[in-house]
Amino acid sequence: MAKRDFYEILGLDKNATQDEIKKAYRKLSKKYHPDMKDGSDEKFKEVAEAYEVLSDDNKRAQYDRFGHEGMNSQGGFGGGGFGGGGGFGGFEDIFSSFFGGGGQRDPNAPQKGDDLQYTMTISFEEAVFGATKTVTIKKDVVCDVCDGDGTKPGTSKSTCKTCSGAGNVAVEQNTPFGRVQTQRTCPTCGGTGQEIEHACDKCNGHGTVSKNVDIEVTIPEGIDNGQQIRLSGQGEPGVNGGPAGDLYIVFRVKQDNKFTRDGDDIHYELKISFAQAALGDELKVPTINSSVMLTIPAGTQSGRRFRLKEKGVKNVQGFGYGDQYVTVTVVTPTRLSEQEREVFKKLADINGEDISEQQENIFDKTKRFFKGE
Ligand SMILES: [Zn+2]
Ligand SMILES: [Zn+2]
Repeated sequence: MAKRDFYEILGLDKNATQDEIKKAYRKLSKKYHPDMKDGSDEKFKEVAEAYEVLSDDNKRAQYDRFGHEGMNSQGGFGGGGFGGGGGFGGFEDIFSSFFGGGGQRDPNAPQKGDDLQYTMTISFEEAVFGATKTVTIKKDVVCDVCDGDGTKPGTSKSTCKTCSGAGNVAVEQNTPFGRVQTQRTCPTCGGTGQEIEHACDKCNGHGTVSKNVDIEVTIPEGIDNGQQIRLSGQGEPGVNGGPAGDLYIVFRVKQDNKFTRDGDDIHYELKISFAQAALGDELKVPTINSSVMLTIPAGTQSGRRFRLKEKGVKNVQGFGYGDQYVTVTVVTPTRLSEQEREVFKKLADINGEDISEQQENIFDKTKRFFKGE
């Protein structure tokens, strides 16, 4: 299917002004919007494509000279044409023009300040029980001399002389397709339309200064490695009266040499002897709060796990407590005294086990050699 002429699609002639193009586009894109009575996906996209080209002075000049072919060429300027083949980009542009945004951000509108992130390393105990710590963070703060205005006290901003307050300047450009005029953001004022003639001495007109700021951080009880908290309004200051950004504190929790943490649960390894495993025992086991007595039943195997209910970490969101798991490891003795050797040999005899001398520990062998046995 042959591509329709962009002007025809919008119902305009070749001399249409930008204002007329915009009006025609608004009317037709509403009419053909897929949610509307006369809605049509195809027509909606056609209108959008025509508008994207004709609303851009560069693309329009290219289209006027070369037609659809000109739009498909990869050469030319400014990143080429529309991409050809009924491509449909710029959905955001279309959306914003739908709601009157026009796609351009107003440089004088209030903007929220940037968010900041700080990584804080804390101990195992601080994470488990919570704490309050002060951190020093280098960040931008509102200049106290000019209150963020950027002007020397007693002076004020004046209308930008480059753009006469419009925020935009017209730029003539020589292109392979002829001279075209485009609107650019004013390089002097950055689009604000205002100029600072007498800049504040402290901040050089920026309105903010970099400063080391002490911030008190309340570490929530039960916070875990990698979790973060948000300190609202502690980020960079806002622009044009906008709110300040937020400060995110990300926690890195150091490992403990006694306990291992898994979420709200605590894991602890309890080493016991052969005799304790075989005969059973009652042992004192440390928890994050205090010690508890744990009964090891006779005949406990290595690797057996005991659960100490709700002896773990308090959940950071207040959902109760985790548990502590105690895993028993039966430690095989490596250096036996003569007396112990005799007992184990006797035990082997009782069980009818024939322990050959080769399986004797090399350490004991050496010891026996030096003892002259
Ligand atoms: Zn200042
Ligand atoms: Zn300007």
